[in-house]
Amino acid sequence: MIVSRETFMKKFDVIVIGGGHAGTEAASASARMGAKTLLITHKIETIGAMSCNPAIGGLGKGHLVREIDALDGLMGRAIDKGGIQFRMLNMSRGAAVRGLRAQADRKLYAQAIKELLNEHENLTIQESAIEDLQLNSENEVSGVITHSGETIACGSVILTTGTFLGGKMHLGLVSKPAGRWGEEASNGLSMTLKRLNFKLGRLKTGTPPRLDGNSINWSILEEQPGDTPPPPFSFLNDTIKTPQITCFITYTNEQSHRIIRDNVSKSPLYSGAIEGPGPRYCPSIEDKVRRFSDRSAHQIFLEPEGLDDSTIYPNGISTSMPEEVQLSFINSIKGLENARILRPGYAMEYDFVDPQELKHTLETKKIKGLFLAGQINGTTGYEEAAAQGIIAGINAGLRLSSAPAFIVDRSEGYIGVLIDDLVTKGTKEPYRMFTSRSEYRLTLRNDNADQRLTPKGMTVGCISAARKKAFQTKIDDLKQAREKLLSFKSTTSDLSNRGISVKQDGSYKTALELLGYESISVDKIKSIWPDVSSIKSILINQLKIEEGYRGYLERQQRDIDLYRKDVSITIPSDINYDDIGSLSNELRDKLKVCQPHSIADAHQIQGMTPSAVVSLLHHIKKL
Ligand code: FAD
Repeated sequence: MIVSRETFMKKFDVIVIGGGHAGTEAASASARMGAKTLLITHKIETIGAMSCNPAIGGLGKGHLVREIDALDGLMGRAIDKGGIQFRMLNMSRGAAVRGLRAQADRKLYAQAIKELLNEHENLTIQESAIEDLQLNSENEVSGVITHSGETIACGSVILTTGTFLGGKMHLGLVSKPAGRWGEEASNGLSMTLKRLNFKLGRLKTGTPPRLDGNSINWSILEEQPGDTPPPPFSFLNDTIKTPQITCFITYTNEQSHRIIRDNVSKSPLYSGAIEGPGPRYCPSIEDKVRRFSDRSAHQIFLEPEGLDDSTIYPNGISTSMPEEVQLSFINSIKGLENARILRPGYAMEYDFVDPQELKHTLETKKIKGLFLAGQINGTTGYEEAAAQGIIAGINAGLRLSSAPAFIVDRSEGYIGVLIDDLVTKGTKEPYRMFTSRSEYRLTLRNDNADQRLTPKGMTVGCISAARKKAFQTKIDDLKQAREKLLSFKSTTSDLSNRGISVKQDGSYKTALELLGYESISVDKIKSIWPDVSSIKSILINQLKIEEGYRGYLERQQRDIDLYRKDVSITIPSDINYDDIGSLSNELRDKLKVCQPHSIADAHQIQGMTPSAVVSLLHHIKKL
């Protein structure tokens, strides 16, 4: 609902500032919690906008989207409507580390987000810029102040301003204040946070030039099709109805690298114009060429930005070199010889708040009722932002009652891992999610996010009646499927006669047990018990994963127990980290610099993975 001036003067329970990925999830979650919510953002037309790549999900990120969906958030349903190519990444690896990713039609995605927001009767949306916050005498937030000086009263505020706080855009050696391309920075709120003594830092991000698809020679490029049928993100959807497209692949070459090297002094990254660190796992092409000088080519995915849009997003060549240098290296690439740039790539530098200023609810420790979510907390990515938005929205909604805080812990979801990492360790560089950040990744899978989180969401009250029903149906179906598979059994010799090789111990094997064998296909099991075909494939796949992982899960549990028992172990001062072969060079260097005293201290080091902690433990025990 778009608000009128009169409505605007009324008091709201929760005001969300910013209509990006964190803000839209926060506003929807707060509204689902029954709070009278106002979403204020610079421009209604940019609600749900993707500032950079037109894609949702990926490794680690796909898990976050499923978890957001399990809590009845928007992202999964929106990408199912706006997705134009779906792919499950990491298919050659175990199910726990696979990540669903979808290419999006930007317009369809943003439209889907707006439509979902409009379903909330108690959510109003206003176009405005917020300049300041109002606090009461108890150091509690009590309102927001717009650029025109109006005060809007409220009980809680969720700040989700993304890259806009003190934002500065860099293109070549030219820089100017901006929130992102064509949009103004948010300087007032940056000053407010400084005045309130929040610890701020600077981070940087960048985006590639956008190309005109009509100027690309597609015929000589490698095609990259999506999965068929496309797997949906949302637990509410069985199929994807949006038409699907193909992406293409090309590569940089020696000539492109030479052009970049010859002009690197014109990049703000190397001229000293940019202070803040950028996303380590999404470096600019000038960074890649400098850091990996032995590589003669870097892969580029050419991704359409929409079904009726000829704009192409060249994924892998984010840059802030001057536009003429961008054109020159682009034209040196196969298939892009005559490519035209529709909009140059650029870098953004912005303020972020040290997330150690936050509680696990994402409420600030300093100001009651003030929540922060998204890129403002030092993360990068739409999914990380949305995951924080939903938690802030639920907890801001909960302030209306005396109910306990809503916290997803590390063993329940990647959302818990993300927030725990941020609020306990802080971050010095844009934080993105990876499955390796979790100690419990065999449990925290894509396929079971609803089983992990929907009941928790139901308890707190953020789940719609439709999702509750769909969830209960899935649980009932799973139970019946398990019972059915347990009821089909055969002796090992009978199975052997039917072409299934299992250990001949004379026992009976159930269809459920056989599902867990990697070497036995579902089709083979169906050929023995045709009735198995009546079970939905989504249920079969989930039961196959559970059965297949059973032994690993037990082993992981032992590692977790060992880890918990041993966190207080002291690390000998003369330890030689070079002796631990399984540690990455990056972690080894960090350990040498930080010199942690105990396993608990080592665990706090940014980037320290659970498996690295276990390796360290095993090594110390051998000394
Ligand atoms: P945003 O999506 O930025 O939304 C912020 C919202 O707040 C906007 O709607 C804005 O209008 C509104 N707003 C701000 N201040 C005010 C105010 N004072 N009053 C009212 N409204 C306000 N992510 C990656 O994962 N990989 C990348 O490579 C990558 N590259 C990027 C490159 C660029 C140039 C940019 C700009 C972003 C990039 N991102 C990248 C980051 C990604 O866009 C963000 O992680 C994500 O959008 C963050 O979501 P958010 O909701 O926190 O903020």
